[in-house]
Amino acid sequence: MTEQQKIFDLVNRRALFVANHSGGKDSQAMFIKLSAIVPEDQLIVIHAVLPEVEWDGVIEHIENTVGETPIIFAHAIKTFFEMVEHRGMFPSPAQRQCTSDLKRGPIEREVRRYLKAHRRFDGLIVNCMGMRAEESSDRAKLQTLKINNRNSVAGREWYDWLPIHNWLEDEVYGMISQAGQKPHWAYAAGMSRLSCCFCIMASKADFTKAAELQPDLYRRYVETERRLNFTLSPSMKFLPEITGISA
Ligand code: SF4
Repeated sequence: MTEQQKIFDLVNRRALFVANHSGGKDSQAMFIKLSAIVPEDQLIVIHAVLPEVEWDGVIEHIENTVGETPIIFAHAIKTFFEMVEHRGMFPSPAQRQCTSDLKRGPIEREVRRYLKAHRRFDGLIVNCMGMRAEESSDRAKLQTLKINNRNSVAGREWYDWLPIHNWLEDEVYGMISQAGQKPHWAYAAGMSRLSCCFCIMASKADFTKAAELQPDLYRRYVETERRLNFTLSPSMKFLPEITGISA
């Protein structure tokens, strides 16, 4: 069976499709694709809320671009800064504790709750994420559809699917524009990626642009770096060295 056939089979089996939505362009384009192939009553959106560190207007942007599709907001126990203060360091790209504690964990918990409350899906779920091969060599190696054994317990049959894995950036923007939508405002302001304003994996250009757009939040990151003597960036350079913007 091809991947497409497997997906249609899961649609026909009345699986719940969950669109993980960061508010970014890839999530937005992925949702548009999903809404074209998944019946309305089998599709929900889930967003991991990142208080203080995500871009203004992310929640409104998601609400304004998914129509009537139900949205679940997943909240972590700790905020990003509480996690950093607790550990005395910023997360590293290798460990990505921020992703697991602030996004994946709370999202999976909410999906499990939703399935429990909506027995009609019989525990069958397709968890959809907008990662693309073009973004990095690590992402290029990801399997696009696979059973998630860790979550396929307690009567659940859980698949992870990357519906736009082979799309190029132009196709992502093209899909958004064809749908008569616009990406979140931060892209037009010069950011290349969304989610946390200051991501541990951001480029110099994105760090610099985010520092210009979010000066108060930038100062907070710089102050935290100084106090912990630990850099946000894995390059081991403090933010002002990267951006050339003092704080
Ligand atoms: S956007 Fe970056 S900093 Fe924020 S949770 Fe994801 S990996 Fe961590």
